[in-house]
Amino acid sequence: MKAVALTDISKLEVCEKNIPQVDDHSVLLKVKSVGVCGSDLRIYQNGDARVSLPRVMGHEIAGEIVEKGAFVDCFNIGDRVALGAHIPCGLCNYCQEGLGHHCLHGWTIGYQYDGGFAEYVLLNRTMVENGSICKFSENTSFEEASLSEPFSCVMSGLRELSIRAGETAVVFGAGAIGCMFVAALRRMGAGKIIVVQRSRGRREFAKSLGADVCIDPVAENAVQRILEETNGHGSDFSIITAPSSEVQSQALSCVKKKGHVLFFAGLPKGKKTEMDTNQIIYKELKISGVHGASKSDHREAVRWIDNKFVDFSTFITHRFKLDETQNAFLASKEKTGVKSVVLPDWR
Ligand SMILES: [Zn+2]
Ligand SMILES: [Zn+2]
Repeated sequence: MKAVALTDISKLEVCEKNIPQVDDHSVLLKVKSVGVCGSDLRIYQNGDARVSLPRVMGHEIAGEIVEKGAFVDCFNIGDRVALGAHIPCGLCNYCQEGLGHHCLHGWTIGYQYDGGFAEYVLLNRTMVENGSICKFSENTSFEEASLSEPFSCVMSGLRELSIRAGETAVVFGAGAIGCMFVAALRRMGAGKIIVVQRSRGRREFAKSLGADVCIDPVAENAVQRILEETNGHGSDFSIITAPSSEVQSQALSCVKKKGHVLFFAGLPKGKKTEMDTNQIIYKELKISGVHGASKSDHREAVRWIDNKFVDFSTFITHRFKLDETQNAFLASKEKTGVKSVVLPDWR
């Protein structure tokens, strides 16, 4: 089969590999759509301690089951499924508590195991038994279904915020994740949604998804403008999807008393944020972090997509053939669109 492997930093190579062999407990998936994630791009540019090269990356996968082991009962040939990224061991403390995304092993598709930038991907026994392999509706395309993994992380963040109707939101960063937050917040009945984003194209896209105010932080003081837009009180919550320490410290100043700040995007290695902790104390702020998503968040994400609560197809701005995976990475790197997907079937 054809696959695209990361063979060195910033080097993706199209290669020929054997189609993985199914054993009694595993499943073979024909990859139909795989998204380029910010974390794929980070590995591509800097490597990762969990990823030994060469490695086929890609964990935002939707495909069709084409082969299964003799003991695999719950799936059938021809099932259209979307995957969660994590491969929980099922046995450690976190897995036992239903928090497979915090599994002590940290196994992830496209990290320790070959991922989706290939014609086929093997779902091993651990994945089949403990991972999220979610069937989706006939009316959902493979492309849309492959957004269920990033959207499950958005679901996880929204759960943390326990939003109430009419609340004011600030979203820092309008990349794929920031935009998914905007669209979901609109649908969930948020009040005013304020987006802070440098690039004009992405500000306009956020606006088309329902953002009320889009601030260019280069042209004006974002915190001041947010306070103006919220009668001087600050927002009910703010969500940080931009990997910037400057934004992380600003976010505390733009939420109201008892407000909630959600940290989503991690900082590049070695970067730290200086924070005015007095704001947390005297404004009685809630600070949360989210990373990855549980199985139930992934199932919920698929339900959103199947029910078309949001028009997910609009997030996919670039499509590439498997041979062109490198270009998909470059498009993500240059932030020209929102989401790039690779469609291995497309010739
Ligand atoms: Zn991802
Ligand atoms: Zn575990």
